[in-house]
Amino acid sequence: MLIDGHGRTVDYLRISLTERCNFRCQYCMPEKPFSWVPKENLLTFEELFVFVKVAIDGGVTKIRLTGGEPLLRENLDGFIKMIHDYKPDIDLAITTNAFMLDKVAQRLKDAGLKRLNISLDSLQKDVKAKIVGRDVLDGVLKGIDKALEVGLGVKINMVPLKGINDVEILDVMNYCRERNIKIRFIEYMENEHATDSLQGMHGREILTKVKEKHTIKALGREGASPSFNYLLDGEYEFGLIDPHKHDFCESCNRIRLTAEGNLIPCLYFDEAMSIAESVKAGDIEGAAAVLGQVLKDKPKENRWTEEELEGREISKRAFYETGG
Ligand code: SAM
Ligand code: SF4
Repeated sequence: MLIDGHGRTVDYLRISLTERCNFRCQYCMPEKPFSWVPKENLLTFEELFVFVKVAIDGGVTKIRLTGGEPLLRENLDGFIKMIHDYKPDIDLAITTNAFMLDKVAQRLKDAGLKRLNISLDSLQKDVKAKIVGRDVLDGVLKGIDKALEVGLGVKINMVPLKGINDVEILDVMNYCRERNIKIRFIEYMENEHATDSLQGMHGREILTKVKEKHTIKALGREGASPSFNYLLDGEYEFGLIDPHKHDFCESCNRIRLTAEGNLIPCLYFDEAMSIAESVKAGDIEGAAAVLGQVLKDKPKENRWTEEELEGREISKRAFYETGG
């Protein structure tokens, strides 16, 4: 079992497969970064797999592949199959913008993928284009339909932003409810890579919007999930991911690996340790030692709470690097 320096069990590994992306979301990567990690610095799937085995053998039971846009990485189904063959009961998921999903959903499913989280911030073509910098809505909706058709589990992520998509909270939730898909509203997390003028909605403001038309009942956090669940009108469950809340970090069970091999203990902070040298040399003990140190150093909590944000610098971490 993997235990961090604050006694929390860590059983969830998120791997960012690339920082590159075909979207330019305002809250994540509005402009192409000044410099990309050179392609030759990316860990190969074989190198990543060395660490995956260390993590699984240590006690990781859930792996999420993210990015950047993970579907941009060639032979993704091959990597999924490697992980699935090593541990068939691993809870293996992808977070994607779904634009390229239509063509690969079946292949990913056949390789062993179980679930997808898909970002859908708007159902209006122009609003979606304003948020992601491209006209993509039709492709995204096609990708969602295909994932459901081939039998992949789907959850939707929506980041409500004031004056941009806040009026669509109920519309996107209804879209999900009609398809029996869970939606999770994610509070916008301030970071220095996002568009300056963005204003996120606090969890309580999101709930107020929902309550204008519906009744809701708090259900609580689901295990170590960051999502606080609510029951809508007594029948539909939705979630709220609220990192600005004080108790958010208490049950944190995750670590993050970047595409070039930096192991990151917390989404907010800059700190990281590299496993690149170890996995390139096939040094399992070396990789396990880095993992042990990162767990020991994992911070107690992020600094997104309102009191913390007041008058201080915002996070320097890029979401396209950590995978969110
Ligand atoms: N490209 C994929 C996607 O968009 O789903 C995966 C990577 S993306 C970084 C992972 C998640 O992070 C998405 O659900 C996205 O909405 C979320 N995200 C990115 N920047 C964020 C921010 N500043 N605040 C809150 N969520 C953010
Ligand atoms: Fe790309 Fe996802 Fe970031 Fe949007 S949120 S720019 S789709 S990595």
